[in-house]
Parts: sequence; C-alpha cells; structure tokens
Amino acid sequence: MHEWTLQEAARKVRDKEISSRELTRALLDRIERINPKINAYVTVLHDKAMAEATARDETQAKGEALGVLHGVPLGLKDIFCTRGIRTTCGSRILSYFLPPYDAAVAEKVAASGAVLLGKHNMDEFAMGSSTETSHFGPTRNPWATGRIPGGSSGGTAAAVAAGLCYAGVGTDTGGSIRQPASLCGVVGVKPTYGRVSRYGMIAFASSLDQGGPVTRTVPDAAMMLGVIAGHDRRDSTSVDLPVPDYPAAAERPVKGMKVGLPREYFEVEGLDPAVRGAMEKALDALVVQGAQAVEISLPHTSFAVATYYIIAPAEASSNLARYDGVRYGYRAKVAGGLIEMMSRTRAEGFGAEVKRRIMIGTYALSAGYYEAYYGKAQKVRTLIRRDFDAAFAKVDAILTPTSPTPAFRLGEKTGDPLTMYLSDIFTIPCNLAGIPGISVPCGMSAEGLPIGAQLLAGHFREETLFTAAAAIERALPHPPVAPLEGA
Ligand code: GLN
Repeated sequence: MHEWTLQEAARKVRDKEISSRELTRALLDRIERINPKINAYVTVLHDKAMAEATARDETQAKGEALGVLHGVPLGLKDIFCTRGIRTTCGSRILSYFLPPYDAAVAEKVAASGAVLLGKHNMDEFAMGSSTETSHFGPTRNPWATGRIPGGSSGGTAAAVAAGLCYAGVGTDTGGSIRQPASLCGVVGVKPTYGRVSRYGMIAFASSLDQGGPVTRTVPDAAMMLGVIAGHDRRDSTSVDLPVPDYPAAAERPVKGMKVGLPREYFEVEGLDPAVRGAMEKALDALVVQGAQAVEISLPHTSFAVATYYIIAPAEASSNLARYDGVRYGYRAKVAGGLIEMMSRTRAEGFGAEVKRRIMIGTYALSAGYYEAYYGKAQKVRTLIRRDFDAAFAKVDAILTPTSPTPAFRLGEKTGDPLTMYLSDIFTIPCNLAGIPGISVPCGMSAEGLPIGAQLLAGHFREETLFTAAAAIERALPHPPVAPLEGA
C-alpha cells in the first residue's frame, strides 16, 4: 500500500477501504525498516501518529465532515515548526528545540485531516544541495544509496521516493524542492513567492524562501498545493488571492500552450548528455500533445548564481543572528561572560556551511561594501526578473532541466563549495524572480538514476505548471517507488 498515490490513499480512507490506523501502521513499519538505510526522517512520531490516526478514524465513524487528506500519513521537512515536536532545521543549535506553536503549513496539513508521521532530514538551515550539511548525518538517495538525494529538502524527496509517506512539504530558496525532487524521481513544486505562508517556517533568506509540495505524481502535487496555499495575515508577504482548483488544472489539455526553451540553459557547461536526452523526450511529449516549442532567451542567466550567493547569505546572516544561546536552542557551557557564551554557542552550534554563509553575508552587508555587493545584487535581480517578464509575454511556460546532472556521489562535492553552488544554476533564477516552478520526472540515466524536467511560469500561474507537467507525466514512464533492496 506504500505504492499508492496520495490521491488513491485519500480515496481509500474516505471510502473506508482501509482505516487511517491501518495505513499509518503500515507506513510506520516501513519507515522502521527502510529509514536506517536512507536517513530520510530525523524524527518519527510513532505513538503520536497512531493516536492521531485513531482520532481520524473516530471522526469518520461519527459521520463528521472530512478534510481532503483525511487520515492520510504525511511528513514535513524539519524546517516547519511543530508545536511540542522537536524542530531542528538540521542544526545542532536547534537539536532540542520544541516550538511553542505550529507553522501555518503544519496547521493547514493538520486541518486537511492528514496524519503527521514525522520530520524530514535536511541540509542545516536549508543551506546545501545534497543534504550532507545536516547535523544528523546525510540522507541517501533511495535509487542508489551511495549517492546524495539532492538538497536541501533531500529528506522529504527521499521519503516520498522510498514510499515512506504519501507526500511531504519542503522549502525552496534556490532550488531545494525541485532539485531533490529531480534527483529522487518525484515531483516538487516551488510556488510563487507569497502563495504559501512562511509563518513558522524557519527563515533562511526571507525574500526567496517558499514552502511547497513533494509528491510522487503531478495530480498529487496539485492536491497538496491546494491544501497548503492561501493567505495568512501572520506573513506580511503572503498574497491575498483565491486558491484555484489545482487538481483540475492537472487534467486540462496542453494543446496550444507555448513552451519556451531558453537558449542559455542548454549552453551550460557540464550539462550531462543523459539530461539533455531526457529533455528532448519531455519536449516531444509536450509537442505530440499539441504544445508549441519556441526558442527564447533569458540573457542574464549567467549572473544568477553569483547574485543569489550575495542575497541569500546576506539575508541569512541577519536571520541567523537570533541564535545566540539566550532565548532558545543550544547554549555552550562556558565560565566567561555573555559575549564568550554567545560566540562559543554559535561556534559550537553551527556547522561549517552555515558559518561560511554568515561570514559571506556579514561581509556583503558591512559598511562600505553594502552598495557594491548587496545593492548591486538587487539590481541584477531586477534584470533577471525582467528577463522572465519579457519571456512570459511570448510563452506560457518555460522548459529546462532541473539539475545539470543526475545524483552525484556522497562526498563528491563537499570539498568544493563552488561546484556544489553551481548545481543550482537552473533553479536559482526562478527564486530570484519570485515565479513558480515544478520538477517532474522525465527519464532515467543509463545507471538508473532519475532525471527531472523543470517547468517555469509567470507569477501565480501554478495551474499552467500542473497542466504541462501532467502532460509530461502522462507520456513518459513514471518512476515507481524506489526499489530499495530487500524492502
Ligand atoms: N542549494 C542552494 C543553497 O545552498 C539552495 C538551497 C535552498 O533552496 N534552500 O543555498
């Protein structure tokens, strides 16, 4: 039953073919067997999930109104605050943090009737592309356990790919939903900035961060986005727009849609031939169903990674100033005064990548450098956004690879942060522009590693993404649950 889609699982519980307890028990048992092999969960809520499932079954027995995900077990990236449930953000500094409140996403998932199985592993403070910067050890790719699952939502993508939950919610600041989805053979959506509330989502780079679904199929992703999207007064950047019927968009024909192919994305050095081949298949799938391919140009693409690595660390250095050992989280045991306690807390509490980002960000924001770095980066960001505005005057959607290569080996890029940063070259421009993006499986490499296609659309055009991605999914063989040996 772990192979069911989210929609199937939801229907079966609703139709009483299976109880929430049976379903939750089955997934918890599977997590117990599989999780030690891939480390996708940092926290598994054995008793709490069963208690929640029991309550769901009782609600149903009483004939009360049911939410769309009634009784279905899900997981959340450990960046979403969950009341009374440890929320670590992959960091030592929050390794014992019990939030006193729920993130908006956690509230919405609970209100839909879902059961929370646990919290997914992630790169520390979502900084990374491989889930190797987690204080809790790396997550492994369920398709090849010697390889990374992508990051930073690698735990979420691996859990969904391995059938350890029917859906998860991750976050994406520069690709952290789409890139791991691509490398694990699942679907991941980065919604328009402002579409999903950031309330209670631990901040990395506030002008870029956005929560979104990770699922095995496109209709499942549409269903899940419908659950978590919507206005929230507690997030000042949340947008007050009605939430469309996303699942309906996944059933619309793609006929007549104009799909742009950005020249610059296909000229990138290091684009794996298997990825290029899979992209051709994805494009064929769209064209065969009546879409029209149009070559376009996004001329400022080559500046996106450099721009991101000023803006994101600058915002992170400010956001992470709150972890000082005073109010919550880890505190170093020192005999000295306040300053020594704070510096030792941060020295011991943060890992190397987080420290690197804080140093870059602090430098870029310091007096005398602010205009040269941060000010300049914001201007380039505007140019990147204008590239997309111009493109979407001509096309409905843009098709690109999600990642230049399939999953790389554990440790392969940890020694060289720059190569790690470059693995996000295709996903970062979308965050800088604030537009929505999706990654959908579109093939396998010769070694049996999943490859994903990315689709981008204009602001609040998630429906276009679901329509196009569903067309690709219908045409190309959809990866099953990852065949972990002996599972
Ligand atoms: N890999 C990118 C980074 O390290 C993006 C991470 C993210 O989207 N959270 O910053």
